[in-house]
Amino acid sequence: MPLKLVFATNNRHKLEEVSHKIGDHFELLTLNDIGCTEDIEETGSTFKENATIKSKYVYDKYHLNCFGDDSGLVVDALNGEPGIYSARYAGEHGNHAANIEKVLTGLAGVENRKARFVTVISLIWDGKEHVFEGVVEGTIRHETTGAGGFGYDPIFQPDGYDITFAEMSMDEKNKISHRARAMEKLIAFLQMV
Ligand code: IMP
Repeated sequence: MPLKLVFATNNRHKLEEVSHKIGDHFELLTLNDIGCTEDIEETGSTFKENATIKSKYVYDKYHLNCFGDDSGLVVDALNGEPGIYSARYAGEHGNHAANIEKVLTGLAGVENRKARFVTVISLIWDGKEHVFEGVVEGTIRHETTGAGGFGYDPIFQPDGYDITFAEMSMDEKNKISHRARAMEKLIAFLQMV
């Protein structure tokens, strides 16, 4: 019998990314799958706190092992912004063009363009929390380039590359991305349970 494990998301894309790596030892369930339709409010002040809010909510209410994630872009010269506000940096949730514009405006004339994408995963397994982090370092371009990906991808150039995330194939991005790195750590842990 596969072990039930909830991924506290309804994002199909994220689910697929993990489920094909996780193997048939686990039955991976979404929030919809377990009938959790309420909005879990991300009221934390760090990626870790927001990830924990999701994993703990599900574990406490449904008594199922669960992991939640939270990600974002951290720009040094913007004092770590957009950070936990990445999805709604310009106000409206998920307005990627406006969010990018706000980052570029904030960095106008600024030489230090260092930034990183961060993902934190909180897993509650048998009542105990395990935290996994993935980071990809890079720089913010002066303008958008590329049509792939989502969010801040068109302005983020990972270190060691001369193209943005939005110019990479999904496979190429998934090899080095913050989310992939955090997921790899989670999967390595799950292979030992
Ligand atoms: P989430 O926590 O994975 O939903 O990510 C929150 C926000 O961070 C997204 O809405 C994007 O604005 C940004 N973000 C996270 N991961 C990426 C990425 O891989 N590329 C571009 N933007 C991202």
